Amino acid sequence: MVIFGKGSSLDHRFADNGLSGMGLVFVISSVSGGGKTTVIRDLMEVLTGIRMSVSHTTRKRRPGELEGRDYYFLSESSFKRMIDEGLFLEWAEVYGHYYGTSVAEVDSITAKGLDAVLDIDVQGAMQVKKRREDAILIFIVPPGEEEQARRLTKRGTENEGEVEIRLKAARRELAFENEYHYSVLNAELRQAVGAVRCIMVAERCRRKMKKESEEE
Ligand code: 5GP
Repeated sequence: MVIFGKGSSLDHRFADNGLSGMGLVFVISSVSGGGKTTVIRDLMEVLTGIRMSVSHTTRKRRPGELEGRDYYFLSESSFKRMIDEGLFLEWAEVYGHYYGTSVAEVDSITAKGLDAVLDIDVQGAMQVKKRREDAILIFIVPPGEEEQARRLTKRGTENEGEVEIRLKAARRELAFENEYHYSVLNAELRQAVGAVRCIMVAERCRRKMKKESEEE
């Protein structure tokens, strides 16, 4: 049975994955500089049938970011209106800005039989865990604070003070690791991507078994 390799027949079988058309919900969190963005980017290359859930945010668009691809950028008042209307599956304030995942975004992905991947912080992940018991939570752990700081500085999107704020937040967030279903060490990118891919394929198999036994 071929499990690995881009676009294997197995992936396609699971893309319309025999789950009554409903895809799974994967939450991926890390600390800043944990390398999560790179892991997710590479994961998209080696696993079909998954789609990133696009979040809403009140933070400013960074150079190169696109509306509707990277985020839905909106004002604080519009964001608060969405909270009041109960449109978010989860939302949180992260580094002074609001971020949230809409119920509609996740539903539109899973209704197509695709698995939704939510790249969200620990506060949001804990809300999803409560509201969607079927969600699978994966935590990406950086190899150490030195490497984490190096990644943040290399990224160049934060100044020195902001890097320090993010490192402090990371120490708090790492305490949530045990709340996740899986923990993946990101010391070596390929290995980390491989591990996340294995988790997702395994979860698809597990869900398929569950569904079959329920039908019997
Ligand atoms: P950035 O501003 O660097 O794109 O993201 C900052 C942090 O916000 C990251 O840890 C990211 O995972 C988190 N984040 C992005 N979207 C969401 C969301 O919809 N909900 C929550 N809770 N966190 C999010």
